[in-house]
Amino acid sequence: MLARPDLTAELDRLRAARLYRTLRPIESPQGPRPRIDGRELLAFCSNDYLGLANHPQVITAFKRGADTYGVGSGASHLITGHSVAHQALEGALAELTGYPRALLFSTGYMANLGVISTLAGRGDWICEDRLNHASLLDGAQLSRARLCRYAHGDPQALARLLDGGGNVRLIATDGVFSMDGDLAPLPELAALARRAEAWLLVDDAHGLGVLGAEGRGILAHFGLGPEQVPILVGTLGKALGVAGAFVAGSRELIETLIQRARSYIFTTALPPAVAVAVRESLSIARRDSWRRERLQALIRRFRAGAAELGLPLIDSSTPIQLLIAGTVEQALSWSRDLETRGILVSAIRPPTVPEGSSRLRVTFSAAHQEEDVDRLLEALGRLRPEGA
Ligand SMILES: *Cc1c(COP(=O)(O)O)cnc(C)c1O
Repeated sequence: MLARPDLTAELDRLRAARLYRTLRPIESPQGPRPRIDGRELLAFCSNDYLGLANHPQVITAFKRGADTYGVGSGASHLITGHSVAHQALEGALAELTGYPRALLFSTGYMANLGVISTLAGRGDWICEDRLNHASLLDGAQLSRARLCRYAHGDPQALARLLDGGGNVRLIATDGVFSMDGDLAPLPELAALARRAEAWLLVDDAHGLGVLGAEGRGILAHFGLGPEQVPILVGTLGKALGVAGAFVAGSRELIETLIQRARSYIFTTALPPAVAVAVRESLSIARRDSWRRERLQALIRRFRAGAAELGLPLIDSSTPIQLLIAGTVEQALSWSRDLETRGILVSAIRPPTVPEGSSRLRVTFSAAHQEEDVDRLLEALGRLRPEGA
C-alpha cells in the first residue's frame, strides 16, 4: 500500500528553495495604495489597469444589481442561473469585440479549460506558446490532446510544428503575455492557423480595456477580427475591474460550448450583480480614453527613467513591465528592499516563470500618478545588484 505523501517534508523543501508562497490580506479597497498589516504601501502589482475596481459608478451599479437580482445566481446557467443581466452583458461584449456572440464564464481559468477541452481531444494536437498562461496549458492537459509547445513569440517555430504531421486542431496564445508584457505576433500566427486549417484562440486577459480604440483589445490593435481569430477569450477581473470572463466567437462555437463545455455547464453562474457592474465598467472603459493615455504616459516615464538608471528591463510597451533579477534570492531581496521603502512590487519565481529568470513584475494603473512612478524609480535606483 502506498503511504500518504509527507506534506510537511514537501513544504519544508519549498521553504528551503525560497519558493514558499504566503498570503497577505489587503485591508483596504483595491487601488495604488492598499493597506497591508496596518501599513499603507504604494503598490505596482495589480491588474486593475484602468483603476476601475473601486470606481464609484461601478460600485453603485453593483449595489443596484444586488437590489434588483439579489446576491446569488442560485444555479448554473442551464438551470435557472442565467439572468437577463448576464444576457445583456453578453450582448455588450459581442458588440465591443465585433463577434457574433459571447458567452460568460465564471473565471478566465474556467473559460480556457472549457473551450480547449471542448474543441480538441485524444488524437489531436494543440500548439501553444511556451510562455502561455497556466490555464491554456491546463486546458490542453484536460482535453487529452497532445500538447506541443513552440518557442515564445516565434511563428517559425510554430510553422515547424505544423509541418510535423500531427492533426493540429487548435493553436492557442496569450495576446499580451502576463509575465513578460510583450505581444504575440498575431498576424503571423493567424496566417499559419489559416494555412493549417486549425482553430486560433487568443486569450486577451491583459489587452482588453487597455489596447486598441475604446479598449477593444489586442485584435483592434493589430486590425484583426473574427475572420483571422475565430476564438477570443477575455477576462473581466483585470482592466474591467470586476470578475468573470467570456469567450467570443461564431454562433455555432457558442452553441457548442453551451452544449459541451464542462466548466460552463457544471458550475454556478456568476452573480447577476457582477454582470450589472461589468456593464457599467465596460462603458466607462470605452468612454474614458484618458485612462489609456495616462497609462501610456506612465509607461513612457517609467521606461525612460529605468533606462537612465541602467535597469535590466524586458522590452514591453504594455502596463506590464519586468525587471529581470535572475535568481530567486535576488528577486526576493529586491522586493523586500522596495517594501522597506514602502513600495510593493511582487517577485515572480518559478514555476510561474522559467528557472533562472525570476523577476520583479511592475504593473501600472491609470490610478497611479507621475509622482508614484518617480518614487518607484527612486527606490529602484537604490537597489543593490546581485552579490553586493
Ligand atoms: C489572469 C489570466 C487568466 C485567468 O483569468 P481569471 O479570470 O483570473 O481566472 C487567463 N489567462 C491569462 C493570460 C491571464 O493573465
